[in-house]
Amino acid sequence: MAELIDGKGIAQGLNLKIQKEIAEIKAKTGFSPKLVSFLIGKSEPAEFYVNMQKKVSEFIGIEFENHKLTGDESQDLVIENVRRFNSDKSVTAIIVQKPLPTGMDHGMIVSAIDPAKDAEGVHPYNLGQIFRRRAEIIPSTPGAVMAILKAEGVDLYGKEVVIIGHSSIVGKPLSLLLLNEMATTTVCHIATHEKGTLKSHAEKADVLIVAVGKAEMVKGDWIKPGAVVIDVGINEVGGKIVGDVKFSEASKKASLITPVPGGVGPVTVSVLMKNVLKIYRKQNGNI
Ligand code: NAD
Repeated sequence: MAELIDGKGIAQGLNLKIQKEIAEIKAKTGFSPKLVSFLIGKSEPAEFYVNMQKKVSEFIGIEFENHKLTGDESQDLVIENVRRFNSDKSVTAIIVQKPLPTGMDHGMIVSAIDPAKDAEGVHPYNLGQIFRRRAEIIPSTPGAVMAILKAEGVDLYGKEVVIIGHSSIVGKPLSLLLLNEMATTTVCHIATHEKGTLKSHAEKADVLIVAVGKAEMVKGDWIKPGAVVIDVGINEVGGKIVGDVKFSEASKKASLITPVPGGVGPVTVSVLMKNVLKIYRKQNGNI
């Protein structure tokens, strides 16, 4: 039976450390960090995450301001709204929540954020810095996966790591972060599924990371005995939140596994806060 990864515990440890560092900087400069969020259109999961971000921000000592847009605005107007805060000195960092309404391009909107205020590390400049192994602001979900692997002492050097999902905010940046740690990294996606080869890739994985958004898609017989399984997926089934991995089966094969909820989610929020801290440090002369 797999050992359960305590995402909440890892997140709490990170949050306390960030809280202490923010209090120290605030005492020296008198300047408080402020995170501005954009929630565009109606999405229950996004609202859930905004509330979680607000709660954790307040606990840590970050001012959190959420701006709700209806989703009926043009993309240009959304971009204009985001840009307004680039030059506002009282604002430390900006986040645009996902999912966006159909027809809006996440990449285009986040490209309008000043890269020095990019809380989620999704501006092309910050993504490019991962390629160069110089990333300071790391996309929060890939950063959370890396933080979990580090907290659990998982050695990545030369290990077979398989990611299922190649989105620009999770799978792709994560593949570079893993390559930077010298993992042998395979990225699978919808075409792998269509070719019927997903299982054959997954069952080779020493570390399997799933970020697809399909409830319990990965079954127990896809898991290599003793593998580490990180489930990024968040799906609602009959009023219950489940991951992309069938937990009851996979936990019998894996050595370590994240639960959903309580795994990657809380750590993602902590990595976001860590990014806000890094940005805040820079704005205060790197103290
Ligand atoms: P996305 O829709 O942008 O990308 C989905 C990826 O899965 C794509 O690469 C696509 O090719 C692939 N895919 C789709 N169907 C597939 C199939 N049947 N087999 C194999 N691959 C398939 O999604 P995303 O934004 O990367 O999010 C993925 C999941 O992670 C969602 O459930 C989302 O809610 C969750 N998520 C969680 C967190 C967190 O903090 N825990 C953060 C971001 C996203």
